[in-house]
Amino acid sequence: MRFGYSATCLDHDPGPRHPETPDRLRAIRGGLKHKHEVEYVEADPVSIDRMAGVHDRNYLEDVRAFCADGGGNWDPDTTATEETWDAVRMSAGLACWAAERAIEGDDGRQTPFSIGRPPGHHAVVDDAMGFCFVNNVAVAAQYALDEHGVDRVVVLDWDVHHGNGTQDIFYDREDVFVVSLHEKGLYPGTGEVDETGRGAGAGTTMNVPMPAGAHDGDYCAAFDRVILPRLKTYDPDLVLVSAGFDAHRHDPISRIRLSTEAYALMTDGIRSFVDNVGAGLAFVLEGGYGLEVLADSVGLVHETFDGRDPLGPDNGVSDDVDALLEAVSVTHGLE
Ligand code: ZN
Repeated sequence: MRFGYSATCLDHDPGPRHPETPDRLRAIRGGLKHKHEVEYVEADPVSIDRMAGVHDRNYLEDVRAFCADGGGNWDPDTTATEETWDAVRMSAGLACWAAERAIEGDDGRQTPFSIGRPPGHHAVVDDAMGFCFVNNVAVAAQYALDEHGVDRVVVLDWDVHHGNGTQDIFYDREDVFVVSLHEKGLYPGTGEVDETGRGAGAGTTMNVPMPAGAHDGDYCAAFDRVILPRLKTYDPDLVLVSAGFDAHRHDPISRIRLSTEAYALMTDGIRSFVDNVGAGLAFVLEGGYGLEVLADSVGLVHETFDGRDPLGPDNGVSDDVDALLEAVSVTHGLE
C-alpha cells in the first residue's frame, strides 16, 4: 500500500497518560518496516477553506486561535498543544491525498492509506470531541465531491466507536452514505439502528451497533447480509474506510472481540466490493490504542493488498447479532 504519512502528525502530543499518542504512528511504521511494497507519501496540509466544506468557519478559527495560545483541554478527552493545529491540517491533508489517489485509480498494491492524527470521526460541524478536532474523512469526502467530479461517496467506519461526527455532517445528504459498525452503548452513545438519515439523506445512514463480545463471524455476517447489499444499490464512486482498530479483542478500551484477522477479512470484503462496482477505495486512520495490535492489524490490511488471502472466521453469527442484522435489514428495506 501507499501510506500517507507526515512527521508533522507526531507533533500533536496530548500528554503521557493520553491513549491517542504519537507512539501509535511509530508503532504502525515499526510494524510495516520489514514488509514488502510499503511506500510513504507526504501530502500538503489543507486550508481553512477546504475544512470549511464540512465545518463551521468560526469553529475552525477558534481551534486555530486555541492552539496559537498554547492549547489545553478543549474538553476532558480532547487536548491540544501549540503544534496541534498544524497536525490537524496535515491529518486532513493526508485524508484528501488518499481520496484523490483512489479517484485517480490507485488500487491493488497502490491502494492509499492515510495514517494521520489526530483522528477525526467524532468531530462535528462546529465542535471537537473524542480526541478529534477536524473530521478528516468528511473533509476528504467533500473534497472528492467538490473537486473531482465524484457523485456518491461511502464512508465505511469500522472504528469501535460510533462515527457520530461523520454521521452528523452528512445526515441530510444523499451524496454521502455513512455506515458505522461500533460497540453499542460505548462513547459517544449514539448510532442506533433507527438513525438512518433525514430529508434528502433519508436512508443513507446505516448503523450496526454490535453487542459487547461480538466477534469476527458477527462482523463478517454484517458485511455479507446488510452492509454490502445496501452499498451495492447505492453504487458509490468512492469508498473511504474510517479505519479504527480499537474493536480488536486486545484493545484496552472496548469489549468487541475481533481478532487481527478480522481486519484482513473486512479489507478483503470491501476490496472485492469496490472491484465489482468500479469504485475507488482509500483508508483513513481513526482510533486503535493497543500499540502492538494496532501495528499488526494495519500490517494485515497492507498484506491483503499484497496478495495474502485472509482466513475465514472461526465462528458463525451469534444469536443476538443475527437478530440485530434482521432489524437493520428490515429498517433499510433489504428483504
Ligand atoms: Zn475509536
